[in-house]
Amino acid sequence: MSDAPSVKSIITPTRLEYEFRVGGAHAEFLASLAEGKLIGKRCPGCEKVYFPARASCPRCGIAMSESVEVSDRGTVTTFCIVRVPSENIDLKLPYCAANILLDGSDLPLIALLQECEAQDVCIGMRVQAVWKPKSEWGPTFENIRYFRPSGEPDVAAEMLGAWI
Ligand SMILES: [Zn+2]
Repeated sequence: MSDAPSVKSIITPTRLEYEFRVGGAHAEFLASLAEGKLIGKRCPGCEKVYFPARASCPRCGIAMSESVEVSDRGTVTTFCIVRVPSENIDLKLPYCAANILLDGSDLPLIALLQECEAQDVCIGMRVQAVWKPKSEWGPTFENIRYFRPSGEPDVAAEMLGAWI
């Protein structure tokens, strides 16, 4: 039996650089974001609009070709109040992450909800995007800092169908 100490772990810095090449639907989606537009794709089979845009419909399995601009306003379909700190997120607790169904889209997206108290968030709350200044826009969804309440009347939960 050796008296030498055993190594149980090591800490070592790592770095990984990679380049992501987007396909046609995503390239159009990202280029439109740089212009302040939110472009989704409509399925020719089920006619659902997916935002962010996808190359093919996950339900029908067919290519999507029609581009559709969706609104930067939408409705909260579900939400999560975060009360646990994370070393990677510098937000005042509690904060809210919400699934938001943008007007003109058939698929909610997850986004940060700010400028309201977490306890005031509700299903059906109308929200709008808060964009960075135009001079900071690029081909990224980070052009939108977060969503905030729009002040419009709440949408009745029954109107949100399968999303709640
Ligand atoms: Zn479809």
